Amino acid sequence: MKVTALHDGTWREAPSDTWMRLRELELKAPRYTTYPARDHFVEAFDATSYRRWLQRRRLAGAGPLSLYVHLPFCPSGCHHCARDKLVSRSHARALDYLRQLEREIGMLAAEIGHGQQVTRMYWGGGTPNFFRPDELAGLAGTIRGLFRVRPGGDHAIEIDPRNAEPELAARLAAIGFNRLAIRVPDLDPEVLRAVRRPQAAIPTVGFIADAHEAGFRSIGLELVCGLPRQTAKGFLRTLEELIAMGPTRITLHDYRYQPQRYRNQRHIRAAELPSLAELTSLHARAHERLAAADYEFIGAGHFARPDDPLARALRAGHLDWDCHGYSTQPESDLIGLGASAISRVGASYAQNLRSPDEYVEAVRQGLLPVARGIELDADDLVRRAVINGLCAAGRVAIESIEIAHLINFQGYFAAEIRALDPWVDAGLVEVDEEWIAVTPPGRRYLRAIGACFDRYQRESVRRANVDPIL
Ligand code: SF4
Repeated sequence: MKVTALHDGTWREAPSDTWMRLRELELKAPRYTTYPARDHFVEAFDATSYRRWLQRRRLAGAGPLSLYVHLPFCPSGCHHCARDKLVSRSHARALDYLRQLEREIGMLAAEIGHGQQVTRMYWGGGTPNFFRPDELAGLAGTIRGLFRVRPGGDHAIEIDPRNAEPELAARLAAIGFNRLAIRVPDLDPEVLRAVRRPQAAIPTVGFIADAHEAGFRSIGLELVCGLPRQTAKGFLRTLEELIAMGPTRITLHDYRYQPQRYRNQRHIRAAELPSLAELTSLHARAHERLAAADYEFIGAGHFARPDDPLARALRAGHLDWDCHGYSTQPESDLIGLGASAISRVGASYAQNLRSPDEYVEAVRQGLLPVARGIELDADDLVRRAVINGLCAAGRVAIESIEIAHLINFQGYFAAEIRALDPWVDAGLVEVDEEWIAVTPPGRRYLRAIGACFDRYQRESVRRANVDPIL
């Protein structure tokens, strides 16, 4: 089986079994925004454990920080959603959440020390623009009062253009955001009906034009592949409309249907989901169209224009990978704020209570609202370094891993290197004594390739007695 031999366009008429198998592996692989995946977090890691890590950071005088702020409110719910959100129209309830969030920020700043430098901020949801611009500005002011937010850093916010008020883009730029992640899962009316999400193109067109005018250096559109009633034809039509809007970045997120985990997804009829063959074709065509429109493929569904910071970081070799996917900033500790937010401090992860009501109640009582987490051992740390390296740059320098983690790479990872053999045979990965490097066609499967180094994944696959790779 040689994947490179398939780059002759024949997939268009009949996606081959190989392409479909590869896509399936990528769909099944963990997202690797944390390693181990958050399913492995434990409740034994509690607020006391988290506080210990925060104090350790304070004593070590550790470097700059990233902040993640979770704003979970949405005015209406979508059937396909897998996010930690709260569907509510009560602004009073949202403002109460905001007050407790500001309180949590104060508690965290007191733990790690006031005035720490923040080089990266990401506000996600839910729908952050459920809040009015002056409320968002107030929250940003609270953060600025406790941290030193670097003006030239990477400061992003997710926006649902359906709720965008006039002047929103200019107000966000004035607050200090310089990157936008705009959610438009699809524009095909059939798909939108199936996921109960009315969404027209016009508000997005206007918002993107405003964002360009306001000087945002990165404007990203986020689509979802694999939604019910989605077809390659309809999806390409959406893609065409979105490319015409002139975003600097386009991300294709893979939809994961998990009705057993997300109650709202039970409204989706499994029979209406695209087949693996349709999905494989849809992806291949989207890649082709985006390349023709001058978007560089970064990896993990991300495409960027050559002038977007993501494409520049990839070319310069300093692209990173962390709890929120690609990062143009060097690796740093991350403080998660708000319900369900994940922090990464030193060799630990901590996740806040997922229910906004429980979160609000805990903070009201003056508690750090930690629900669970994990302390990483030496094995977790070396595997995280390899997986992050593969997901970010698509390569790992063997010697640098050996020096940083005091291992003999070839001996320590003998089984994992063997597990890469089918990828190597397929022309998707190259392995020599100095490097493990993913080839350009292999970048479509970074997570599946990274999974070869995932101890937890390999153990669960072994338990299920399934062949983990090709
Ligand atoms: S998909 Fe977005 S807008 Fe819809 S419920 Fe989920 S977070 Fe809210």
